[in-house]
Amino acid sequence: MTVPTITLNDGNTIPQLGFGVFKVEPPETERIVSEALEAGYRHVDTAAAYGNEEGVGRALATSGIPRDELFVTTKLWNSEHGTQSAIDAMDASLERLGLESVNLYLIHWPRPDMDRYVETWRALEQLKTDGKAASIGVSNFHVNHLDRLSDETDTVPAVNQIELHPAFSQTALRTYARGKGIAIESWGPLGQGKYDLFGREAIAMAAEAHGVTPAQVVLRWHLQNGLIVIPKSSSAQRMAENIDVFGFDLTDVEMTAIDGLDEGRRVGADPDTATF
Ligand code: NAD
Repeated sequence: MTVPTITLNDGNTIPQLGFGVFKVEPPETERIVSEALEAGYRHVDTAAAYGNEEGVGRALATSGIPRDELFVTTKLWNSEHGTQSAIDAMDASLERLGLESVNLYLIHWPRPDMDRYVETWRALEQLKTDGKAASIGVSNFHVNHLDRLSDETDTVPAVNQIELHPAFSQTALRTYARGKGIAIESWGPLGQGKYDLFGREAIAMAAEAHGVTPAQVVLRWHLQNGLIVIPKSSSAQRMAENIDVFGFDLTDVEMTAIDGLDEGRRVGADPDTATF
């Protein structure tokens, strides 16, 4: 299984499809990530807040896959905003992952109420200079948060990882990011199973036409939109299904019909008001 890569604005490349591990229980993480690696995934998306970096690290170590064939993302949690706390949080994540560096380090949420994300971003710039993160980016940033980074710091984030699925397709933020050279990663790409995405007619019809599952249609819609996508599943069968999305193309008509499903409907928190 060859997953295409996207070149980020700093010249590094990222596999366009990865494996997300939000809500993968720590005791199960090593086994589940090992299964994902066996299924062909080479890009794993974790976070300090998920509590499962150790299991991810063990799965990577026991896989025997060379480090340069793996892409590992982790994220700085909200309690660690600040200069020294960000540097310490990165070191703690690297320790838990058993790695010398990650491919991508993200500020998990902007937490504008704390007003420390600009300072934290400068710490990530330092971590990139120090070689602890090959690429740096943000998550859950709105246009106004990105504008502040652009006004007050020197580095454009390589990535903004945001909630994005057909009912919440984030067209304005995608257009802005394209103009700035920021790659968009879709979290909750399948809507986290929180609404009947797969029953929507545009998706069900495309699945029928191509002889694939509705989940495969949705993942294909992300890929054909140039988005990086990190679906999560704990079942080996669905892991295999979710990476088997490179053998068909949605037509322009099908893409437009799925675009039409946008309802501005979040399944997660609004970054402007989140206080966890
Ligand atoms: P998701 O949209 O990937 O949904 C996962 C759920 O969809 C699974 O638990 C399963 O119930 C279902 N599913 C998966 N494959 C399926 C299939 N083939 N058929 C039917 N159902 C299927 O949601 P997610 O896990 O929240 O998001 C993906 C990843 O994004 C996370 O694991 C995490 O790495 C990342 N994430 C980041 C943030 C952030 O704030 N940056 C927030 C949430 C998630």
